[in-house]
Amino acid sequence: MAILGHFIGGKHVASTSGRVADVLQPMDGSVRGQVALGSAAELRKAVENAKAAQVGWAATNPQRRVRVLMKFLELMARENDALAELLAREHGKTIADAKGDIQRGLEVIEVCIGAPHLMKGEYTDGAGPGIDVYSMRQPLGVVAGITPFNFPAMIPLWKIGPALAAGNAFILKPSERDPGVPMRIAEIFLEAGLPEGVLNVVNGDKEVVDAILDDPDIKAVGFVGSTPIAQYIYSRATANGKRAQCFGGAKNHMIIMPDADMDQTVDALIGAGYGSAGERCMAISVAVPVGKETADRLIEKLIPRVESLKVGPSTDSSADFGPLVTKQALERVKGYVDAGVQEGAKLLVDGRGFKMQGYENGYYMGGCLFDHVTADMKIYKEEIFGPVLSVVRANRYEDAIKLANDHEYGNGVAIFTRDGDAARDFASRVQVGMVGVNVPIPVPIAYYTFGGWKASSFGDLNQHGPDAFRFYTKTKTITSRWPSGVKDGAEFVIPTMN
Ligand code: NAD
Repeated sequence: MAILGHFIGGKHVASTSGRVADVLQPMDGSVRGQVALGSAAELRKAVENAKAAQVGWAATNPQRRVRVLMKFLELMARENDALAELLAREHGKTIADAKGDIQRGLEVIEVCIGAPHLMKGEYTDGAGPGIDVYSMRQPLGVVAGITPFNFPAMIPLWKIGPALAAGNAFILKPSERDPGVPMRIAEIFLEAGLPEGVLNVVNGDKEVVDAILDDPDIKAVGFVGSTPIAQYIYSRATANGKRAQCFGGAKNHMIIMPDADMDQTVDALIGAGYGSAGERCMAISVAVPVGKETADRLIEKLIPRVESLKVGPSTDSSADFGPLVTKQALERVKGYVDAGVQEGAKLLVDGRGFKMQGYENGYYMGGCLFDHVTADMKIYKEEIFGPVLSVVRANRYEDAIKLANDHEYGNGVAIFTRDGDAARDFASRVQVGMVGVNVPIPVPIAYYTFGGWKASSFGDLNQHGPDAFRFYTKTKTITSRWPSGVKDGAEFVIPTMN
């Protein structure tokens, strides 16, 4: 069986750790191959390669660096169909959705083509007599990314693009569940002209992650995944003096006001709640209709839509969503549905028993819909990460916004309304990082930044947009004086510009 190793110094390198994990095909439960679970020594080898390659890459002028990104975009267009199929087969999402995963990553690469502009510093002419002040942004050196299974193209690209454009070398530790596409991305970058060693992929699990967190030559770590791991990585990386931005889990609410267009709302909710089997950090998992009449209308329209969701294998172009990523994920999600029933929530549509004919070993379940979920229930408090939507009824708008504000997570939120004043008030007061107004999944476009609040994010800068260039560069500020220099004598009072 083929074992996917590492990509170090521009070459495929077999692992010698002796540990591997199966890479599955969720749509039929078969084993596609294996991936190496690397060692700390293998990580160190990648760091040494990256450190050596970074010097020349940083010295390459930024326009030349971004020409590699331009070529990469061209090659990715050529590879689009094959990559989307590989992604769908390893992850379980449909091929159309896999194309979206790739596209949202490439949009960040497009913005990174503006790196020469985004890296410009500041300049003040004549800050004092004969004194000019200017700043420059310089790369950090070697930086690393640790990414989750659910967007195996988009999230690595969100990290690799700005890091490389800014002149860093990068080490990617992708999810061990779907490592195929990240590896292809590294190969395609090399083909696009990226020097060997500037982008390395080290496959693995906690051992490689811990080695990244402790390596003195890695200056910054970008993480995306579940909240407990995000918190762990943030603590350990920052304790070791690294920059860290760590994005975690979510419980995204959609507030539905009495004046919302109910057909549009239900369309939006179905896609945002059940697309990709709910395995998106920006999926809507809680619907909050305001007022009994709104709730009753919503439920009446939702039930038939959830019942008629089409679940299918990833290669079925007519499927709304595919299987979950692993058997354990399937069991975990079904366990949450069991818990919701036990806690007294009303299960209106039960997808637990769904079987996909001809794919009996795949990790499928149908859509589930709960009504009368309350804020003290486990299914409300915790991230389920499956095709399960909970309806929490609110009496008033103030109760609805309080739910979103009091929740532990604060990744995304949406309000559906025709009232501009309500929308404006909501956008201003809600304690969540990304807000949609009649937009169910408000993932900001690439030239804005992406990041949640509260337990959805640790660190102070967001992903992509201008923040990414701040995260992957350090600022140097130069105060220069010409031509008199210091020949007037030593100065013992702190200099001021008066
Ligand atoms: P995960 O936390 O299990 O894994 C993420 C990464 O951490 C993987 O590379 C994995 O190998 C590594 N890892 C796992 N356990 C570890 C440990 N004990 N020590 C060190 N490293 C470890 O997450 P996942 O299941 O791959 O992804 C789903 C989660 O990611 C969900 O919670 C989802 O909400 C979240 N997510 C968040 C965002 C965001 O931007 N906020 C985006 C996508 C996914």
